Amino acid sequence: MKITGKTSITVLLPAGRLPLGIMRESHRLAEKYGFGVYLSTAQNLRLINVPESAIEAVRKKLGALGADFKGPGKFPIPRLCVGKPHCNLGVVDTEAVCMRILDRFGDRKKVKGKLKIAVAGCAMCCSAPKITDIGIFATKDGYEVYAGGKGGAFPKIGRRIARKASEEKVHEIIEILFDYHDRKTVKKQRMTKLLMEEDFPFEEV
Ligand code: SF4
Repeated sequence: MKITGKTSITVLLPAGRLPLGIMRESHRLAEKYGFGVYLSTAQNLRLINVPESAIEAVRKKLGALGADFKGPGKFPIPRLCVGKPHCNLGVVDTEAVCMRILDRFGDRKKVKGKLKIAVAGCAMCCSAPKITDIGIFATKDGYEVYAGGKGGAFPKIGRRIARKASEEKVHEIIEILFDYHDRKTVKKQRMTKLLMEEDFPFEEV
């Protein structure tokens, strides 16, 4: 329940990794200001019921440790499964795949809202790439990429738009999809709404 005079602050956690310094300081601040800590479904750290009077202090303390905060226009941090070497079925190290995506696109500004990315280390798709706007999973022959999936009350499996793709090809696809979404979107929309456009850049494969 949202309480009057309280708010939440979301710390972005690339690859779902929580740096120990941020964990320690979040714990300390949570005790000091009496707020809660929620691990969000997007794999970020959401500080809940933070007193509004403490927002600035909390952001300053965590920011000094390198924390980046959720905000409009930021490139979405991919949701990951744990991948190789932590899962026996993993074909790729999903943390490394995620960080290479963020190295290439993380500085992109004014990204219009609602786009999400998921990466899975094998075809079991534990991070749900097939029901994500841009979903990527590894196979022994390369990556499969899906576009336009969504969860929620009316879930949809995306369109498979690439098979046996190299990582470089996956990056090219991400760039094309983000550019296309930007051109076709006023403020925010899910990729699924664009799948039926005549000029959608990828056929089903
Ligand atoms: S998708 Fe594959 S690699 Fe990733 S956690 Fe699930 S089984 Fe393991």
